[in-house]
Amino acid sequence: MKKFTDPAKLQKWCRERRAAGAKIALVPTMGYLHEGHVSLIKEAVRRGADEIVVSVFVNPVQFGPNEDYDKYPRDEKADWKKCREAGATAVFFPTPANMYLDRHSVYVTEEDLSRGLCGARRPGHFRGVCTVVAKLFNLSHAHFAVFGHKDFQQAQIIKRMVRDLNFDLDIVVAPIVREETGLAKSSRNTYLSAAEKESALAISKSLYALKGGERAAAAKKKIASALEKAGLKTDYVEVVDVETLEDAKTVAPGTCVLVAAYCGKTRLIDNREF
Ligand code: AMP
Repeated sequence: MKKFTDPAKLQKWCRERRAAGAKIALVPTMGYLHEGHVSLIKEAVRRGADEIVVSVFVNPVQFGPNEDYDKYPRDEKADWKKCREAGATAVFFPTPANMYLDRHSVYVTEEDLSRGLCGARRPGHFRGVCTVVAKLFNLSHAHFAVFGHKDFQQAQIIKRMVRDLNFDLDIVVAPIVREETGLAKSSRNTYLSAAEKESALAISKSLYALKGGERAAAAKKKIASALEKAGLKTDYVEVVDVETLEDAKTVAPGTCVLVAAYCGKTRLIDNREF
C-alpha cells in the first residue's frame, strides 16, 4: 500500500494509474477509522476498483470555531493497518498546510440542499466539505467515490455538486454500519462514556421504532421525547424528501428521518431512510 502526504505526488500517481487503465476509487475520511469506513473500502473492492485511495484528513475548513477540530481523534498507525486489511492500495495523509496553500481563496458552496439540517446548525460546514471533496476528486482522478449514508445530507450535497459542476465520476452511497446495540458507528463515539453510550441508543431505537405511515409531526415529537427521556439534547429531528431535503408531511417511502442530538458534549447524527 502506498502512502502519500504531498497532493502533487498523489495526483501524479493517480494520473499515471488511470492512464495505464486502472479503475480508481476514492474513499474520503477524517480518519480514526472504524467498521463504517472499512465497509466503504470493501464496497470499492466489491465494485472492482484496481486502486483504492483512502484519504485521511481532518479538514479544518469544515469545522466551526466552537467545534471539536483540535480534539478530533487521530491515529495514523491504526488507520494505516485498517486500510491495508480492508483492501486499500493507497492512503493519503495530507496536512492542512499542503491542502490549503498560503492565500487559498477558492471555495465550493452548495446553496440549496445545504440550507437545512446540519447546514443550518453548522454554518460553513458544507462549504468546507464541498471544497475538500472537490480537491480530492481532482487529486485522485477517481472513477467513483464512496460515501456513507450515515452522513445522508452530505452524500446528497456531494451528488448535487458532481451534477452541477460536471465532475466526471460516480458517487456510491453505502449503508450505515451500526454496533450490535444499534448505535451508528462514529469516530466521535470515542468521546462517549459507557453511560453516555447507553443513553445514545435512544437515537437509533427511536428511529427504528417508527413503522412508516406516521404523520411527520407526530414522528418528530415521538423521537424528540424519547431523546429527552434518555437525557439527550435534541439538535434537530426532521422528516424530509430524500431528493429535495424539503420537509415531508408523512414518514413514507422516499423520505428520510434525520436526527442530530447532543449526548453530553458530543453531537451525534443518525438517520433512517424509508
Ligand atoms: P468521517 O470520517 O466521519 O468524515 O466519515 C467518512 C465517510 O465514512 C463518510 O462518507 C461517512 O458517511 C462514512 N461513515 C462514517 N460512519 C459511518 C457508518 N457508521 N457507516 C457507514 N459509513 C460511515
